[in-house]
Amino acid sequence: MKLHMQILIALGLGIKRNWHIFLGIILGIMFGAFLHVNSHPAILAVLTFIGQVFIRLIQMVVIPLVISAIVIGITSVGDNKQLSKFGTKMVVYYGIITVMAVSIGAALAMLMKPGLGAARFITENAAGEVQASVATAMAQQQGNIGQLFLDFLPSNPFHSLAVGNMVSIIVFVVILAIALARVGDVNRPVVSFFESIFAATMKITDWIMLLAAPGVFALTASAVSSFGGEIFASISKYLAVLIIGFALQLFVVYPLFLKFFSRISAATLYSAVAEAMMVAFGTASSSATLPLTIACCEKRGISHKIASFVLPLGATLNMDGTALLQTVAVIFLAQAYGVVLTPFLIIQICVLAIIASSTCAGIPGAGLITIALILNGMGLSPEQLVAGFAFLFTIERITDMMRTLVNVTSDTVVAAAIADNEGEINYELFNNPEAYEDITN
Ligand code: ASP
Repeated sequence: MKLHMQILIALGLGIKRNWHIFLGIILGIMFGAFLHVNSHPAILAVLTFIGQVFIRLIQMVVIPLVISAIVIGITSVGDNKQLSKFGTKMVVYYGIITVMAVSIGAALAMLMKPGLGAARFITENAAGEVQASVATAMAQQQGNIGQLFLDFLPSNPFHSLAVGNMVSIIVFVVILAIALARVGDVNRPVVSFFESIFAATMKITDWIMLLAAPGVFALTASAVSSFGGEIFASISKYLAVLIIGFALQLFVVYPLFLKFFSRISAATLYSAVAEAMMVAFGTASSSATLPLTIACCEKRGISHKIASFVLPLGATLNMDGTALLQTVAVIFLAQAYGVVLTPFLIIQICVLAIIASSTCAGIPGAGLITIALILNGMGLSPEQLVAGFAFLFTIERITDMMRTLVNVTSDTVVAAAIADNEGEINYELFNNPEAYEDITN
């Protein structure tokens, strides 16, 4: 309880420091609710435009930022052993957090049974038929996962860059950066080049953040205005499961994780990264929030080496909030359609959710689309899938905002824990919220 109070107070302080963004969220919710009741297409169009301007500007710096951050991060780690130590630790930490997320999602969904209440709202289908096709669909799933991993490997990195395929960009850049680290001093021109690019993209991020409050206001308002109000009551149990799950991740799992694996208090970390958390909520995009996530961590003393290595990979691969949602959503639909959820099937859903979430890009809506990977395995008919998706889409945006906040927070939790373990954190900066004000600009 005491820890939770500390976290809330620290979050409050972080929010106070970035009160204008918080105000953007609150006013956005209020104005969005107003627009939901009183439709004003012209105002909505203006809000959507402002929101898009903000998102596009911030997305504009993401690819150069990711590439330069990874190159600098990996080449500055230098020696082989340290790199594999960081890499292994990162995968293990992200893994622990995501396993916790799917376990919480599955436990809550099985306990609260949100799907049962929704059954009559989704097209009723023959449960027996569903059962029969589960096994076949599971077998097909194997092939799909293989293809998915194949798609990670870019046959043409420039094509991946052009279409913004983050996972394959990252695969290429990590390999390139490891090679650069191996070739010794001859890498200096390239590394210096990326150091300049990184510094410039951070500067651009500072400028774009001047638009954070109106941008987040516009995005929140247009999201809230588009809620399917009528369906809200029927889906409220599903939403409640998600909110409880996300809250458990934020207020129980991460604090315990930090307590167990580091000397960092979640309260201090949350106060440091509150700005990134709020922008994650507003933009519903881990990738778009990445420049700010890195800025928050570095400005509060997490070394460049760790932040630029762990955060870009986390923003693309670590999606524990998404995995939690996917687990709950699939169990929700299974309950609605009368699929018998055996322990084996639940474990299968959890494993697939971990895979599906880590393959999804850090952009709005990606998590719901990749749910298809898990749903295929449930053996639902195309009609059921369409009806189920349509149902979940009614509150997609708000759940996206929440799961993205969770995704981004866990990236910083893992970065902070590794920085602490490796002596890569400046505690004077980290423990002093005022320091943040001094070093901005
Ligand atoms: N929007 C999420 C993110 O960027 C991904 C998702 O759709 O779940 O983190």
